[in-house]
Amino acid sequence: MTSSPEREPLPATFIGHGSPNNALELNPYTAAWRAFGHAVPRPRAILVVSAHWYIEATAVTAMARPPTIHDFYGFPRALFEVQYPAPGLPELAEEVADAVKPTWVGADHDSWGIDHGSWIILVHAFPDASVPVVQLSVNGREDLDYHLELGRRLASLRRQGVLLIFSGNIVHNLRAADFRNTGTIYKWAQDFDDAATSLLVSDPASMPRLTAQRHYHDAVPTPDHFLPFVQFAGLASVSSDRASTLVSGVMGGSVSMTSYTLGMSEVHPDAPGPLTEEER
Ligand code: ZN
Repeated sequence: MTSSPEREPLPATFIGHGSPNNALELNPYTAAWRAFGHAVPRPRAILVVSAHWYIEATAVTAMARPPTIHDFYGFPRALFEVQYPAPGLPELAEEVADAVKPTWVGADHDSWGIDHGSWIILVHAFPDASVPVVQLSVNGREDLDYHLELGRRLASLRRQGVLLIFSGNIVHNLRAADFRNTGTIYKWAQDFDDAATSLLVSDPASMPRLTAQRHYHDAVPTPDHFLPFVQFAGLASVSSDRASTLVSGVMGGSVSMTSYTLGMSEVHPDAPGPLTEEER
């Protein structure tokens, strides 16, 4: 596929990714990710902003063969055996650097790859791993305004055949989470999630204001999973259409799974079938 500035922008998404176990499970969230993958036009490449590449710089993977990274511990062996063998796309690293100028983006040739913030989504949304995948780090040294602006600047890539996936969680309090208890949702978690949705559809450019919401520090004890959402809000702020909810909910009481799309009218999570034996 060739890139053209005249192209219709591809959809984009923010995915609340939750536990690594979601890679192997079929639940309402992963069903929605599958439906998203089925519904989008085939992209030239996928750029994932992953909460799990949280470093002190803004960097983009630039290797031809990104390794699958198992950046967690204490999970079932089957998760450590997951491979997501998608190719990289080294020239996209340059396109990303151009798109976000004057923000500086470093090219990473050998330190990272495809981490679980990416592949737990991609094994569902793009199971054949044939579309090139490039990751963008989350720069932990920068504030929310920086991330909002970065999201805005990534917008031009949507017209170049690049599918933007922002992977994090709006509410991500693991200390308060209990994944054995599937029925409980902390009220503060739901309130914060609702406030984020409401601001995203009404005034996404003011997302940094959410730091004043009274549950911010419970919902966002560390900024790593929240910042990809702030970037998505920046993208939404320059989009011709409003973000719509792909799926919403909270797992373990305090990890929001709420996910959104831009540039798509509706996605039907019941369309794709259950996991096949082979996929397990
Ligand atoms: Zn995570």
